[in-house]
Amino acid sequence: MKEVAVIGAGTMGNGIAHVFAMNGHQVKLIDISPESLDKALLTIKKNLDRMESKGQIESDKVQATLGNIQIMTDIASGVSSADLVIEAATENIDIKLSLFKTIDEHAPANAILATNTSSISITRIAAVTQRPTQVIGMHFMNPVPIMKLVEVISGYSTSDEVCKSIMKLSANIGKVPVEVNDYPGFVANRILLPMINEAIHTLHEGVAGVQEIDTLMKLGMAHPMGPLQLADFIGLDVCLAICKVLQEGFGSSKYAPCPLLVNMVTAGKLGRKSGEGFYTYTPGSKDLIVAPSFR
Ligand code: NAD
Repeated sequence: MKEVAVIGAGTMGNGIAHVFAMNGHQVKLIDISPESLDKALLTIKKNLDRMESKGQIESDKVQATLGNIQIMTDIASGVSSADLVIEAATENIDIKLSLFKTIDEHAPANAILATNTSSISITRIAAVTQRPTQVIGMHFMNPVPIMKLVEVISGYSTSDEVCKSIMKLSANIGKVPVEVNDYPGFVANRILLPMINEAIHTLHEGVAGVQEIDTLMKLGMAHPMGPLQLADFIGLDVCLAICKVLQEGFGSSKYAPCPLLVNMVTAGKLGRKSGEGFYTYTPGSKDLIVAPSFR
């Protein structure tokens, strides 16, 4: 598992590249957007510099890590000598299925193909390849360099050998892997999203305000972030998409997204990334200010 190709250089892809490169792997970071690649390198450098300034790593480690990362836009050549490919592109089924067909065509026959999807079926992705036994979910958490968990998801056909080797690799890069099976939302999001959705219902019904709901869950349940702040952090569009996957996958109205969540996404209020969700966000400021609609 010397060479790792990471596809998609957004929020998650840059973090995944950072962690593998810091652990001595040769990383090819691939994206269709050259701007995303440039931004990813800047983010990785900034995060490594922060680690150095906190005394967590030496400066030669920063250089070695950056030296292990190569950026590129061509998938075919990027995956051609990879031992492991980790797809972390946009959460869209058509994009993922088309990407996996291409990756399968160009990656070495023995390479393992992993996806960082939050909610799309691993079994469905594996089915478009000629190697379903070698396709697996590696669900990293955001921010990847800091969060310890990797949810390792075996699809219907994933071999035990592939699962074992991904569990071992995840531990080798300093993460704590947890093995689960491929059902809608896997485990983390199947439990998390109904809680977030219920928090939005509670707000929508006027039971309590944004700050009250978040304070209750932070101080009462010892959650580091309240559910509404967490929803903003994940992205309300992503939360909505996962609710829909759960609703459709289980055929149950129990998972139906709250109409307020649907409305906010339709209005372009996507949380932190759009500058407004349940709170408003100003670049460079860490202040949490309740959004005007909820004051
Ligand atoms: P993002 O929007 O930040 O980045 C996605 C990147 O994929 C973009 O740079 C885009 O240019 C690139 N891309 C799109 N189509 C491509 C293609 N055909 N080939 C190559 N690159 C392509 O998204 P993200 O938040 O990093 O999410 C990536 C994946 O990780 C998704 O599957 C998401 O569900 C999952 N995930 C996200 C989080 C999170 O908190 N953001 C957490 C866990 C898992």
